[in-house]
Amino acid sequence: MNFHILTLFPEMILSGLSHSITGRAMDKGQISVNAVDFREYATNKYKHVDDYPYGGGAGMLIQAEPVYLAYEDLVKKMEKKPRVIYVTPQGDVFRQSMAEELAKEEDVIFLCGHYEGIDERVLEEIVTDQVSIGDYVLTGGELPVMVMIDAISRLVPGVLNNDVSAEFESFNDNLLEYPQYTRPAEYHGKKVPDVLLSGHHANIEKWRREQSLKRTLERRPDLLQEANLTKKDLKYLKSLGYEADSK
Ligand code: SAM
Repeated sequence: MNFHILTLFPEMILSGLSHSITGRAMDKGQISVNAVDFREYATNKYKHVDDYPYGGGAGMLIQAEPVYLAYEDLVKKMEKKPRVIYVTPQGDVFRQSMAEELAKEEDVIFLCGHYEGIDERVLEEIVTDQVSIGDYVLTGGELPVMVMIDAISRLVPGVLNNDVSAEFESFNDNLLEYPQYTRPAEYHGKKVPDVLLSGHHANIEKWRREQSLKRTLERRPDLLQEANLTKKDLKYLKSLGYEADSK
C-alpha cells in the first residue's frame, strides 16, 4: 500500500514512521511512505505558502495554489485518482472501521494543514474525506497522519508477523480486548487466572469472550450498541446488569 503525504514537514513524518513495525514494513516494501513538501511548489521567490485570512482574524492560512500544484504533480503519475484525506479537527472521527476500509486501498493521499488551516477552495477541489483524530486542536496535521498510517499499516496483509493478532484486538467486532498475561505465573503476589494455565481451549475462549464483554461494558458501553452479540453474550451481559436497549 502506498501512502502519499502533502505536508510542510516531510522529515517529521518519515522519521516518525521509520521505526519498529512501520519501519520494517517500509523496508520490506509492504508499505511505502512518500512525503511531499508542498513548499517546493510555492510560486514566489521566498517560498511562502501562507497569507492573512480575508475578513481578518488571528493567524495565517495556507494558500490554495502550492497545495494544488503538489497534488496535481502527484496524481499525474497515478492510473486512477486516489482518495485524498484532509486531516482536520472538523472531520469525522477516525475509527478502527475507517482504518480497515482504508487498508484496502492501493494509494491514499493525506493532506496536512498547519497554522489556521488551508484555503477552503482547494479543499473543495481535491479532498474526498475529512478526518479528525479527536476533539482537540493540534498545531499541524503531521501527528494525525502518523496515527492514521500506523493504524492502517498494521492491517495491511503481512505487516504484522502474525495476522491473527490484528483480528482479535480491541474494536474488532466493537468489543475491547480481554486482559492478557505473560510469564511469570505469579507477580507481586498476583496469580494469572487458572483457566489460562489449564490448556482447555474452549474454556479459555469462553473466559476471554466474557472478559471482553465485561471490560467493554465497564469502559466503553457505547460500543455494545454496535457489537455483534450472541444470545449467550446478552445473557452474560444481563447478569452484569446490562440492558440491551439502554443508551
Ligand atoms: N483553525 C482550524 C480549526 O479551527 O478547525 C484548526 C487548525 S489547526 C491549528 C492546524 C492543522 O492541524 C489543521 O489544518 C489540521 O490539518 C491539523 N489538526 C489539528 N487538530 C487536528 C485533529 N484533531 N485531527 C486532525 N487534524 C488536526
